[in-house]
Amino acid sequence: MVLELPEMAVIARQMKESLAGKRISTCICGHTPHKFAWYNHPVETFPDLLVGLRIQDVHSRGNYLIASLDSDRALVFGDVGGRIQLYPPGVEAPAKHQLLLGFGHGSLLAVVIVMWGSIQVLAQAEIMNLPYIVKRKIAPLEDEFTYEYFCRLVTEAAKGPKTSLKYMLVSEPGVAGIGNGCLQDILFNAGLHPRHPVISLTEDERQALYNSLRDTLRRMIDDGGRDNETNLFGKLGGYKRILGSHSVGKSCPRCDGIIEKAAYLGGTVYYCPVCQG
Ligand SMILES: [Zn+2]
Repeated sequence: MVLELPEMAVIARQMKESLAGKRISTCICGHTPHKFAWYNHPVETFPDLLVGLRIQDVHSRGNYLIASLDSDRALVFGDVGGRIQLYPPGVEAPAKHQLLLGFGHGSLLAVVIVMWGSIQVLAQAEIMNLPYIVKRKIAPLEDEFTYEYFCRLVTEAAKGPKTSLKYMLVSEPGVAGIGNGCLQDILFNAGLHPRHPVISLTEDERQALYNSLRDTLRRMIDDGGRDNETNLFGKLGGYKRILGSHSVGKSCPRCDGIIEKAAYLGGTVYYCPVCQG
């Protein structure tokens, strides 16, 4: 339900393949009121801002999706706890939605916010000034996300003597696009516990975490997103999560441990008490 970096990357690619060059012909915004849906303009002005414009390109950055439009505008979906789905011509759109765009050939793009999320129309130049993008300057799969850059994040996080790995990755300073979902397998593959204090990471553990961050996210994207989230066409991703509610009480795939769960920092964490130190 919460789209993190891999799902946004997959949905952006699918949107580009399906909608680049297509013109927005209809727009309904704010149809279903939602307390945690955030818009940067009054909802009734979105049709004027969007109808008639063509989608030129679509890309993602962390858990933000950016569709570049004509007239130097961009449509940006950020931090979406919900779905972004394309309905082919003739298929009925969902009854509840926060944004519904129609295209000349008859397909409909729906943004359905379940938990939270933002829908914004911006000038291209404003995107790089979004607080989220300013704060998490470099996303983990970009070339600039080097081991040296990662070590600087670790050093910053280690200023708080009690800062844990979960806190460093999802809160402060945070890594773009990582939430409580992707976090689980990233830490499992690194052999590190979510509560592990950042300050006590050894050089080897730091390297293992960096490698796992990049490799795990890459695998999640290559497999079409995680298996508990849907893609642009409403299909579940092909990445089989190692840890999640399904794994509690089962054997660890790597050792003799039994997977446990705990409530920690506003979300459930899953871990092997034996091999995640
Ligand atoms: Zn284990």
